[in-house]
This record gives sequence, structure tokens and C-alpha cells, in this order.
Amino acid sequence: MALKIGVIAGDGIGPEVVREAQKVLDASAAKHGFEIDYTEICMGGCSIDRFGEPLTEEAKNKAKASDAVLMGSIGGNAATSPWYRLPPQKRPEAGLLGIRKALNLFANLRPSLLYEELKGACPLRADTAEKGFDFIILRELTGGLYFGERQTIEENGIRKAVDTLAYSDFEIRRAAVKAFEIARKRRKKVTSVDKANVLDSSRLWRKVTEEVAKDYPDVVLEHMLVDNCAMQIVKDPAQFDVVLTENMFGDILSDEAAMITGSIGMLSSASLNDTKFGLYEPSGGSAPDIAGKGIANPIATILSAAMMLRFTFDRDAEADGIEEAIRKVLKEGYRTGDIMSEGCTKVGTEKMGDLIAERL
Ligand code: NAD
Repeated sequence: MALKIGVIAGDGIGPEVVREAQKVLDASAAKHGFEIDYTEICMGGCSIDRFGEPLTEEAKNKAKASDAVLMGSIGGNAATSPWYRLPPQKRPEAGLLGIRKALNLFANLRPSLLYEELKGACPLRADTAEKGFDFIILRELTGGLYFGERQTIEENGIRKAVDTLAYSDFEIRRAAVKAFEIARKRRKKVTSVDKANVLDSSRLWRKVTEEVAKDYPDVVLEHMLVDNCAMQIVKDPAQFDVVLTENMFGDILSDEAAMITGSIGMLSSASLNDTKFGLYEPSGGSAPDIAGKGIANPIATILSAAMMLRFTFDRDAEADGIEEAIRKVLKEGYRTGDIMSEGCTKVGTEKMGDLIAERL
């Protein structure tokens, strides 16, 4: 049966990088003998231009009817684009929040991987970079501080603001289950990050994670306090495999983890719900400054497509093949502008896609 993939090409460099990811998926399908049925979904700025809103019911239904969605990125230049003269709920980014909600995407995955060939771009100490690292942060995406009750009040001339951090056991459990399932496909280690020395929500987080761990005796679970984790990511990132954490801690740690890889054009991501469905997209935005120039790095999007094969379709061999092809192309010295270094061959978006598809 054909893999049903919804495709949101989006805005800016989105269509350019998604085209290359589809090229690589098609090459993988031809090699491994499977079929893909793509459905185009209009979302973001291009949907505002066509339908007057960033996310239509039709787009939501098409996404829901797909096994997985591959997305470029949405949005434009906030200073110059007319999309940003609209009220916030009508802007391109509202489409993104809307689709995450409609699809109940509660877990966000961000791999942090340092390629041998790109070690020079790593801002960590040379001996740390030399060891390399390859871990994934799984961030709970729909609960915690960002979704709790909040208010700002003034009492007796004193202004006071309150945000609440609440988690229910089922929210923690479903995120933990995802983390353990992912660890099973990797090096079988989960580091659950919390602040259990202070916060009740973290103590529950720890308890529920330990309950879930009982169903995964082949996976090692360790706990780490978030302040220590922030240090360990720069001191010894090689120790991590899957880092599981709540929404706000994950927000901060995933940016730290992205930074140490040295290039936004190489960073994939996925958002998952409790079925096999996932929305797969590069971590970067629509890069309006380089859109239409044919120079964007398509690798983050191609890696996102590989994650889709691995986590939605359980096609690990095919995902390995794509990741290996990317390594080969980097080893041969081909680079897009954002990761260019001396002695390498500079190529554009399309050529990079061609090279990766050819090396499969
Ligand atoms: P950005 O990630 O688009 O760009 C930041 C810098 O990184 C730019 O210099 C850009 O050229 C570069 N860059 C990003 N991706 C690249 C790639 N694949 N290859 C080479 N260089 C790349 O962030 P921004 O400028 O803050 O945001 C631009 C727009 O994207 C905004 O409208 C923002 O809201 C949107 N955005 C969308 C998403 C999403 O769709 N999930 C995520 C982040 C930002």
C-alpha cells in the first residue's frame, strides 16, 4: 500500500527544500520498491493569499487523512510582508499552531547530531567536538507552563503576575512512552530531565516516567535535573541518547542542543501524536532573506523525511540509507553556502538534492 504523505511546501524556501526531500523520498521508494501517494496541502502565507486564512478546514482534513505530513516552513519577513499587518490569529504562524492543535501533536522531537565533516562548525571545545554526539530531545508540547492558567493583578499598589505549571499523569505517560519507543530504535537510553528537587510537577514527572520504564526493561532510564542537563549538553553531549522533558525545559534545552551542531540548515524536527502520525519539518524558518535564490540547504528537510520513514512508517533501513547518503555527500566535500568551508565544493539546493538522491 502506498505511503500517504501530505505535503505543506509553505512559504519562502519551503517549496525549494521540500522539492528536494520529495526527490530523495522518490529515489528511496524506487530503490526499495514502495509507493508514495502525495497530497498537496496549502498552509501559511500562501493560504492567506489564496483563501484569506492561514489554515482552512480543507487543509486540516487533508492533513488528518494523511499517514504523515512533510512540511517546509511557513511565514515571511515580519517587517515587509503584508501578512504581518493582519491580526495575530490570521497570520501564517497561526496556521502552524492550528494544525498542531487539530492533530493533537503533543511531542516534539529535535535531533542534535554533529557530523564528522562539520565538526569545525561546532562551538564546543575541540576535544568535546572530536568525540561527536548524536541525541534527540523529546519535548512535551501541549502542557505545562505555556498552557497553564495565568493572570496579572494589582493589589495594594503591588503588581503581581502568576503562571501555573500543571501536568496530569496521562500527559507525562504518553510523552514518556514515545521517548522509550524512540530509544528502542536507537542506543536504548532515556534521560528524563526535571526539577524534582523543587517542583511537584517534576516529582510526578519522575514517578510516571519510572512507571512507564517498567514496560521497557531493555531501555536504561536515568534522571537529571534541568540545570545540570544544561551544563552537561555543553560539557559532554555524547552521553545522551534520548532526552525526555517537559515543555518549557525542552524549549530552552532544544535551542541549546541546536546551537552546538553549528548549522540550522542541518536540523530536522518532528511533532508526534499518540498514533504513528507525525508532522516532519526542518527546525529553521522560511528564511525570506535567501528565498528564491536556490541556495538554501535542503538537508534538514531531507533528514526530516528520513525521520518520517523511521518513526511513522517503521522503514528503518530506508531512513538509514538516506542518512548514509547525506554523510557520503558531505564526505565528498559538497556543501551549501551555510555550511561551506575552505577546500569544499559549493552547490545549490537542487544540486544537493540530486547528489543525495544519486548516492542512495
Ligand atoms: P529562519 O530560520 O527562517 O532564518 C534564520 C537564518 O537562518 C537566516 O539567515 C536564514 O537564511 C538561515 N537559514 C534558515 N534555514 C536555512 C537553510 N535551510 N539553509 C540556509 N540557511 C538557512 O528564521 P527567521 O528569519 O527568524 O524567520 C523567518 C520566518 O520563518 C518568520 O516568518 C518566522 O515566523 C518563520 N518561522 C517558521 C517556522 C516554521 O515554519 N516551523 C519556524 C521558525 C520560523
